[in-house]
Amino acid sequence: MAASSTGWVRPTALVGPGLRFVSAFRDFSRHPTTLAEARRVVTAAHQNRDRAFLDRLDELVWPFPASPTARLMACAGIERGDVLEMVEGRGLDGALERLRDAGVYVSYAESLGQMPVRRGSARFELHPKDFRNPRSEADYMVVTGGSRSGGTEAQSNFHYIRRQSITRVLQTAMWAVNRVPTAAWAPVFPSAGIGTILKLTGAGNQPERWFSQIKPNLKGVTYHKQLANRMLQVIGPLRAVGLPPPEFVPASAPEPVVAWVQEALGRASRVCLVTSSSCGAALGVYATEKGISLAGLVIFMGGEPVTRAKLEAVRSTGAVAVDSYAFVPEGTMAVSCPSCGPEEMHFWDHDNAVVGRRRDRADGVEVTSFCWTSLAPDAPRVLVNVENDDYGTLSVDAEPCACLIGELGMRTRLARIRGLTKVVTGGTTIPCELLERLVEEALPTHLGGGPGDYQFAEAEENGGITGLILRVDPRLGAIDEAAAVGVVREALGSSDNGLLARGVWGDRVRVQRTAPVRTPTAKLLPFEPLPAGSMSPIDPAPDRDDG
Ligand SMILES: [Zn+2]
Repeated sequence: MAASSTGWVRPTALVGPGLRFVSAFRDFSRHPTTLAEARRVVTAAHQNRDRAFLDRLDELVWPFPASPTARLMACAGIERGDVLEMVEGRGLDGALERLRDAGVYVSYAESLGQMPVRRGSARFELHPKDFRNPRSEADYMVVTGGSRSGGTEAQSNFHYIRRQSITRVLQTAMWAVNRVPTAAWAPVFPSAGIGTILKLTGAGNQPERWFSQIKPNLKGVTYHKQLANRMLQVIGPLRAVGLPPPEFVPASAPEPVVAWVQEALGRASRVCLVTSSSCGAALGVYATEKGISLAGLVIFMGGEPVTRAKLEAVRSTGAVAVDSYAFVPEGTMAVSCPSCGPEEMHFWDHDNAVVGRRRDRADGVEVTSFCWTSLAPDAPRVLVNVENDDYGTLSVDAEPCACLIGELGMRTRLARIRGLTKVVTGGTTIPCELLERLVEEALPTHLGGGPGDYQFAEAEENGGITGLILRVDPRLGAIDEAAAVGVVREALGSSDNGLLARGVWGDRVRVQRTAPVRTPTAKLLPFEPLPAGSMSPIDPAPDRDDG
């Protein structure tokens, strides 16, 4: 809803984006944030979050009556003075819970415009663009890493990237890798990879190598071609000011990354690599098989859950795996500290707030979805209790953790985060976790290999009937295919929906000896659905998900 009548402004046309990138990169590179400065900024923001929320409403919500939050507040009959009272009486998190209960929240499907917002007798539709920050300029566009839809576009700006690099300083300090030799193994497309590079550079960890799981040319880039094209145009000029050229290293062949780690460990006792969880695990599996020790390497992983199996794959090499949670375009929201358990992280509460919302997952199990609220003036989107399709556990420490984040006063933890988006196939839905357990634990236990060697995929077979394919990496050699199908059938039999799925798939579970396929953003999902639009519409779309 970028119409001028609403007061929303259009993002600035991207005139000379190459030059903007060059000056931002140069600034980040020459003036990285110091640890003292990072502590100061984050402490101040943490202590001021109640005020920041009220200020953001005054700047970004109340003057824009057509904005999503202003409309939801109006539906709930809540005015400026009411919110002030809530925050003063209950604190920010208590106020956000109160607002959520009054209907001031946006479900993921509502935020995408997939279903209308209905609150009482009011009914209206939203569009992803409605959440853009009307007072922040877009320096460049990014796309979300959505695997089903190809992602939606969002804007990003260098002020906010700089702000994110501040938490990166604290993160690297906490793991004793601030300003050590650093590399990124992140896809050059769609465009989030450049954000990773900039944030590291602003934190004093300017990457010396950039490995990309996607070829740094336009071949095979079938979606968001324009964005990809723009990124290509900025990478050239950036090389002149010190950006390492992207080198193609697929997840299936991590040798060049391992070689860099070994070389870097020859000149420094600690080195840092930033990559996706599955690529971190692939690196670990490769090094273990070759008998290579990676002691001294700290891998910042993210993009997918760092499950116990992935964690082990890294740890067995002597390297340290750090878990983090981020989404586009807001960036990193949580990170693990040395005393966090598997899949447990501290929430950075100085620039955002999070409250839970009880809702049903696709298979009927009640879960806590996350509703996000942005507090930074330069945040790319204006979020007040907006869901992002993820759920997990949310807890608050009674006593602060002994780590740097606890020392800064932050006590909220996020754990075991998963996507709500259901796996739908053949008219039945099953939770992603079930398939994840199969590919990460049950199948490797019975048949060998590790995480990354197995993946489920949908196949349209005779007459468009959907079947289930189990991909098994050929590198595992001969396996007992009947036993593999047996393991899958047994696991599916452990839940009602699994039984249903087993009924639908029947004997159409077959083993295919091909390597698992990654998403365009190099994620390795336990289940690869058919490309959007090609699946037979057997599944009736639910009317709404927030009932
Ligand atoms: Zn901690």
